[in-house]
Amino acid sequence: MHDQIEEVLISQQEIQEKVKQLGSQLKDDYRDKNPLIICVLKGALIFVSDLIRAMDCPLSLDFMAVSSYGSSTKSSGVVQILKDLETGIEGRHVIIAEDIVDTGLTLNYLRNNLLSRDPASLAICSLLDKPSRRQVKIKPDYCGFVIPDKFVVGYGLDFDQQFRNLPYIGILKPEAYI
Ligand code: 5GP
Repeated sequence: MHDQIEEVLISQQEIQEKVKQLGSQLKDDYRDKNPLIICVLKGALIFVSDLIRAMDCPLSLDFMAVSSYGSSTKSSGVVQILKDLETGIEGRHVIIAEDIVDTGLTLNYLRNNLLSRDPASLAICSLLDKPSRRQVKIKPDYCGFVIPDKFVVGYGLDFDQQFRNLPYIGILKPEAYI
């Protein structure tokens, strides 16, 4: 697994420190709002499990799954909801927690879909942001790291369902996916 990684881009320690900061900032901003955190499966799972433990305030958690890249590393732009929320969000303060914003197509779809359900507020918290590849105007309200245009894996992010369990974020060797 590690031999298919070209470079460790963000270490385990850097991730832990950043996630603690993000959690503390969210706690300050949402202290009395009982926010609903929406974990976008599967990539955000590890991030969210650390993030919510860094938020020392009342909150609830729900999950959505949307279609992603599959086995390829290129975005299709076609978004499909594979699993919807179990709870209504009308009047709730909602935070979408994502692993990465790349072209922005997925989040843009998700944001518009959730806004149509009348939440009290809607914010986006993404561990990673790859702004150089953006196709729609969307910017996370809370962001861990801005990264270059490289395909990364680890800490929840996969290639072909592999590498999610790496404790760091690494750049995959191109020969691993060509
Ligand atoms: P977008 O719609 O913003 O192009 O893509 C969002 C989704 O694409 C992410 O939630 C993630 O699943 C996938 N994705 C985008 N860039 C990367 C990357 O560098 N590595 C991995 N593993 N997935 C990515």
